[in-house]
Amino acid sequence: MDKQTWINNLMATMYLESTKSVDEASMAAKARALATCIRIAFHDRRIRTHRAYEKGKIACYMSLEYLIGKSLKTHLQALGPAEEALVRELVPELYGVEVEDLFRFEPDAGLGNGGLGRLAACFMDAAATKGVPLRGYGLRYEKGMFAQKIEDGFQVEVGDEWLKDGDMWGRRHDDEMVPVHFKDFTLKAIPYDYIVPGYETNNVNRLRLWRAEAMNDFDFQKFNNFDYLGAVSERALAENITRVLYPNDARREGQLLRFMQQYFFAQATLRDLLRQGDLKSMTPADRLNALAIQLNDTHPVIAIPEGIRILMDELGFSFEEALQIAEHVFNYTNHTILQEAMEKWPVAIVEDVCPDTLAVIYRLNDHYARLMRERGLDESAVRKMAIVDKGTIYMAHLGIHVASKVNGVAELHTRILKERELKNFSDLYPDKFMNVTNGVTPRRFLMAANPLLSEAIDDWIGSGWRTDFSELAKLKDLADDEAVIDRFKSIKRQNKVRLAERIEEAFGVLVNPDSIYDIQIKRIHEYKRQLMYGFYIHHLYKEIKADPTRARTPRTCIFGGKSAPGYHRAKGIIKYITELARVINNDPDVGDQLKVVFIENYDVSWAELLVSAADVSEQISTVGKEASGTGNMKFMMNGTVTLGTMDGANIEIFEEAGAENNYVFGSSVEEMEASGYDPVVRCGEDPLAKEAVDSLTDGLLDDGGSFKFLDLRDALMDNKSGPNDEYYILYDLRNYIATQNRIEEDFRDEKSWYRKSFWNMACASKFTADRSIMTYANMIWNVQEQVVR
Ligand SMILES: *Cc1c(COP(=O)(O)O)cnc(C)c1O
Repeated sequence: MDKQTWINNLMATMYLESTKSVDEASMAAKARALATCIRIAFHDRRIRTHRAYEKGKIACYMSLEYLIGKSLKTHLQALGPAEEALVRELVPELYGVEVEDLFRFEPDAGLGNGGLGRLAACFMDAAATKGVPLRGYGLRYEKGMFAQKIEDGFQVEVGDEWLKDGDMWGRRHDDEMVPVHFKDFTLKAIPYDYIVPGYETNNVNRLRLWRAEAMNDFDFQKFNNFDYLGAVSERALAENITRVLYPNDARREGQLLRFMQQYFFAQATLRDLLRQGDLKSMTPADRLNALAIQLNDTHPVIAIPEGIRILMDELGFSFEEALQIAEHVFNYTNHTILQEAMEKWPVAIVEDVCPDTLAVIYRLNDHYARLMRERGLDESAVRKMAIVDKGTIYMAHLGIHVASKVNGVAELHTRILKERELKNFSDLYPDKFMNVTNGVTPRRFLMAANPLLSEAIDDWIGSGWRTDFSELAKLKDLADDEAVIDRFKSIKRQNKVRLAERIEEAFGVLVNPDSIYDIQIKRIHEYKRQLMYGFYIHHLYKEIKADPTRARTPRTCIFGGKSAPGYHRAKGIIKYITELARVINNDPDVGDQLKVVFIENYDVSWAELLVSAADVSEQISTVGKEASGTGNMKFMMNGTVTLGTMDGANIEIFEEAGAENNYVFGSSVEEMEASGYDPVVRCGEDPLAKEAVDSLTDGLLDDGGSFKFLDLRDALMDNKSGPNDEYYILYDLRNYIATQNRIEEDFRDEKSWYRKSFWNMACASKFTADRSIMTYANMIWNVQEQVVR
């Protein structure tokens, strides 16, 4: 848009957003007005993209989660440098505020749990940037997941009101509503569309999120008969379907609601896709090549039998024809190896929601059982790989049997799937399994998160890296240039100051920008071993207390992450960390030497601030448990060394940047399994292990009478629900602490420290989501890039 159009639009949208004068209008209203202008600016490109994609095969990403974060900054960036500069000049003139000051008034869209949801958002961005015709589909949870409050050191969940001032980016399309039929009733699925503009392209892809509404939102008869609640109850119940991500499933009602979400999502999305092409009139070959669907984990796998059901019941295809289409169209990404995370549904629940789809599931079960028998599998093998067994439906099995391709998300993860967890399936379908290592978008996690470093990279190697991330490798030649490393160091320090300011403002904790920023941010989970990091901090505290005057490199230990509301041990870990913070931050003996910060309500916006200011990236999961990790990649591209185990994508990070430039520790799966490890024996032999366990009950740290610390101790030493110290925390602790001590030593030699950090950035090319998305496009979906003009 030209300058005059921007001026006109900025004023017009301001009048729409606020009844007050521009001077009096709120910052939030100004942010919304700017967002609407940006949407208008992309309007034409969006239409052109739609036209360009109509002609060819498109891919569709189905995910129950999108951890989007804020979009003002990244969308503005996607307009290109010239238009972005124009907007940054006009907004202060017209609105009396800097664009930079408006960013904070945009709500952070957190429609996801963690890595899996953020991956979906990164993939949408990468596809638009690479010109891949990819449509995203998801649910528009009115209250997101939940917002985390820390009260007396405990996590408390409250509703996430991301829509309270309206939806800044979503555009509702009532005219594209689809009906969704359940067993006993029908709902409306209303699409809300979000633009996904590519960087330095004209492609503007689309993310479509569904909202559930009642067919009849008001019952006049009931109202007239004084049943005021009953008159609107249908509406309230319908809207519950897209109220929150992951309703509490501790009771059957919650499980039913969760399954209804999945089914609602599947049917709405399939109806939307099916109305676009007339499948019946296509040749059989064309039908198979009209579309590719990627299922992000098992959450949308119910789309497979639902799709077959629609093709049969509503479009008149035979089961064989419908199955053949499904086997071409669907692909499934596996994100976990933790058995308890493999999704299963009781037949009774599915029957209550969609009995006709259940019938298709049974039919698929018979079909693949027959196929397995034909291929010579015995009855016990057939049973282990069945879709339905003993009244339970195994969603991963359903996905694997039907999907054209099944992928893991990092080399090690895929290898474990093929050689262990899903070996029987990989033997049956050797060509199905493949790896696509995850990636993250540099537009958000480097360009938007770290503008100072991005400018410096432009100066060092030109700006080509912004569209072709492989160019980042040119930085390798500069790693021994002192002026370059000095500038890198000065940028890191400025980012550390920026983070310190935000931490002081948000939590009132003063942190020292010259300390080591040692950061662990991710969902709180036993396998991610935040507790092990906590034990190290406790150990360091004891050392400081024993000798407060010894010269040390000050350290700031930063945690962030939410626990699942019903995951008591994870909540105990949060309390352990916040107790460390309470005791350590208030101890005058410690002073500046050690600070502990727990970032309340860690989200994508915090991630951007944290990864750009980190000195140490904590990636310390028990080997074999973290499928990939993507936080690790965000830190790496910002020039941070990884302190990590040989797990998930850490292995590939070490491979790219060299183990000698990182801090690798911990034993292999084989060593752990062969060790005959007994934590009780270990505590007798290893004072570090004993000190750690004792810290849970010796009274220094106080769990407020919740017995949470005793429960953590039991998990290590006297576990009633599994093996003691299932995640090998005490096993790896000594090695971990030794590695932390090495970090403290090495940090003193600044030149070599920052060279290593810089080197990691120079080696980060592989971890762009652009590489991942091109692998999906070429190896799985077979879709062509489309350059929109
Ligand atoms: C990247 C990201 C994650 C995933 O972090 P891991 O360390 O890979 O588990 C989770 N939450 C948010 C907000 C993120 O940005």
